[in-house]
Amino acid sequence: MILDLKLVRGRVVTMDPLRPTATTVGVWRGRVVGLDEDVADLPAARTVDLDGATVLPGFIDAHTHLAWAGRARRTIDVSQCVTVDQILDALRGAPGQGWIEGTGYDRRAVPLTAADLDTVSADRNIYVQDLSGHACVVNSVVLKQLPGIVSDGWLTETDRAAAHALLLPYSIDALSADLRHSVREVLSQGITMCAEAGVGAGLLAGSPVEVAAYQRANLPIRVQLMVSADVLHAVNAHQDDGITRAIDLGLHTGFGGDRLSIGALKVWTDGGMMARTAALTEPYEGTDNTGELLDERAAILDGHAAGWQLAVHAIGDRAVDFALDTLAEAQARAPRPDARHRIEHCGLVRPDQLRRIAELGVIPVIQPAFLWSYGDDYAAIMGARRAPWMYRGRSFLDHGITIAGSSDRPVADGAPLRAIEFMVERQSAGGMKIGPGEEITVEEALAAYTAGGAYACRMEHDLGSVTPGKLADFVVLADDPRTAPRVAAVPVVATIVGGEVVHGAV
Ligand SMILES: [Zn+2]
Repeated sequence: MILDLKLVRGRVVTMDPLRPTATTVGVWRGRVVGLDEDVADLPAARTVDLDGATVLPGFIDAHTHLAWAGRARRTIDVSQCVTVDQILDALRGAPGQGWIEGTGYDRRAVPLTAADLDTVSADRNIYVQDLSGHACVVNSVVLKQLPGIVSDGWLTETDRAAAHALLLPYSIDALSADLRHSVREVLSQGITMCAEAGVGAGLLAGSPVEVAAYQRANLPIRVQLMVSADVLHAVNAHQDDGITRAIDLGLHTGFGGDRLSIGALKVWTDGGMMARTAALTEPYEGTDNTGELLDERAAILDGHAAGWQLAVHAIGDRAVDFALDTLAEAQARAPRPDARHRIEHCGLVRPDQLRRIAELGVIPVIQPAFLWSYGDDYAAIMGARRAPWMYRGRSFLDHGITIAGSSDRPVADGAPLRAIEFMVERQSAGGMKIGPGEEITVEEALAAYTAGGAYACRMEHDLGSVTPGKLADFVVLADDPRTAPRVAAVPVVATIVGGEVVHGAV
């Protein structure tokens, strides 16, 4: 046997408890075929001397938005604007005709209204997307096309979706270009597999035929597509199947290959903390607002019955209650071993909810970088009693709960090493300690971005550790994050997918 690639003199952190370290990795036909003495004497078409560099399994981002992140390239980014005038000036620079689309707006920093946007154009449609995806600001031209909605321009949740629907769909070519653009940055951060959080319809979809873009873009990264529950429709299946609603052809979780597959069914049950629409049992601090709960019980029950793994978006503790109650009901009606349902974000978890999450075997898919970027604000709106319950780490692990790390790119910084540093230190960019006692070790945080992500995406047989038989996806780091003084500052030297170097050089 001649190996395709042999990595030698590396510090390989395999994330496989049965064989935790190695120095040599042999790759053949896209898979790991052996470590150390298994492959040491085999010839290889290419041998790379890593000279002590650290090798980990490629990072898995278990909840991201590649297309949305790539879209920033062809919209006007207002994230750096700190005044209304700066935003308006940026929008005035929009070329051509048709819609003027802005992204990255943060209402907490700058209050923007339709009247402001009307000074940019009185006849073109203007849509400015907020950072979270749950809200936007539009001008009066757009508001006129939304009969029944009374607003000063700020729209959240279903009203935002109605405005967004006016500017859709994007073309497959445009979406493919967005994806390719986005993936370059993702690979530079050591990520080798992404779970795209909701395609086909719903909060962030770009087109009803957008899966074609993922298929045609031929991306140098693995992608799993979560399908929006909004595309479920009534089907005439045999009554023994118990399937009343499905997507066409009965496709569901697990269909596809290791490059592109169908993942979980994405269901939204509340909004977000940034837009103050995450559903809470007690109001946001100093207000009487408890957020917005979306009753998606039917989608959860129907999706479970049709064989889907569910990815239930629930940020506030009231939404987490709803998700847990409904997932338990779904299992009671149609028991399915290892359904492995997920709660996306799982942002505010009361102490009493931890045991239920563990009992139901639900996987929290968390975004630690939310708290690095926005934690100071979130802590203020939750108040002192609830702030330590946000995006937990240690409490989940102590309850035997598997966690998966993710970014929700472009909502927050997408770099796994940034998130891992936060999970270890629990320190926001503003220097605030958030959730003291929720710190976990670097190894545990790395596991959330490798083995945990693979488990959440039901791909642990192929991904998540450097183990013979698994796919040859690696990140090569200049330093060992377990001992480096600053985890987030460790340079990514190269990213390897299926034995091919797709970023950097080794
Ligand atoms: Zn998301």
